[in-house]
Amino acid sequence: VIRISGLRKSFDGRLVLDDVHLEVGRGRIVSVIGQSGGGKSTLMRCVNLLERPDRGMVEVAGEVVHDDGHMVCRDLPRLRRTVGMVFQRFHLFPHLTAVENVVLAQRRAGVPEQEALERAVALLRRVGVAHRGLAQPEQLSGGEQQRVAIARALALKPEVLLFDEPTSSLDPEATREVLSVMRELAADGMTMMLVTHELPFAREVSDHVVFVDGGRIVEEGHPDDVLGSPAQPRTREFLASYG
Ligand code: ATP
Ligand code: MG
Repeated sequence: VIRISGLRKSFDGRLVLDDVHLEVGRGRIVSVIGQSGGGKSTLMRCVNLLERPDRGMVEVAGEVVHDDGHMVCRDLPRLRRTVGMVFQRFHLFPHLTAVENVVLAQRRAGVPEQEALERAVALLRRVGVAHRGLAQPEQLSGGEQQRVAIARALALKPEVLLFDEPTSSLDPEATREVLSVMRELAADGMTMMLVTHELPFAREVSDHVVFVDGGRIVEEGHPDDVLGSPAQPRTREFLASYG
C-alpha cells in the first residue's frame, strides 16, 4: 500500500530524512521506533503529504503521489481518505460531540447524513465508546478521545492507518484501552504504520520494525530481531535506554 524510496527532507537546510526506503504491504503492520528528533513524524507525514519530500518517491495504493520534489498527486482529498492518521494529541473538534466528530469527516467526503450517522455509531461501538457518543472531547478521558479519533480515521474507510505516538499522552490504563483497539484492528487485517514507544506492543503486533536515527534507517527487520537481538550498536544503545 505504501512504497517510499530515496526519500530526503530538509528543514531550513538541515537534513532530517536521508535516503529513506520503506514499504508497507497490504495487511502488514510496520512500526517505526527511534529517539526524539530522529525524523519519525516527518517520515510519516510525508506519506499523506502533510510534509512535501525534497527528493525521492512516495507511492500510495499503487499511485505515485510525490516524485523527485514534485507533487504528482492529483487528488489530495482522496489521498487523505486513503491514508487515515491518528495523532499523539487527538485533534478532535472541541465544539462537537464524539458522534459529530465522526460524522463531520464523512459529510465532508460526501457521505449522506443518515449513512454517516449510522456508520459513526457503529464505529464508536467498535472502539468501545458508543456510550459516550454525545459527550464533547473535554468531557472525555484521554483514552476515550483517542478512541474517538481512531473511529474518525476509520470512518473514511482508509486503506492504511498511520499512528504517530497514539498513546504518548495517555496514562497506563488509557494506553491499554487504545492498544487493545489497535490490536483488534491488526487482527482484522488493517494495514498500519505506527510510530510508538510501546516496544512490547510493537514487538507483538508488527510484521516489521524500523529503527530510525538521525534521519536514517539504521536497522530494520523482524521485530524479534530488531527488538530482541539488534545487530547495530546504535539500536542496542537505544533499546538500553528503555531499561
Ligand atoms: P519525536 O519522537 O520527538 O516526535 P521525531 O522522530 O518524530 O521526534 P520529527 O518530528 O520528524 O522527529 O523531527 C525531525 C527533525 O525535524 C527535528 O529536528 C525537528 O526539530 C525538525 N522538524 C520537524 N518538523 C519541522 C518543521 N515543520 N520545521 C522545522 N523543523 C522541523
Ligand atoms: Mg514525532
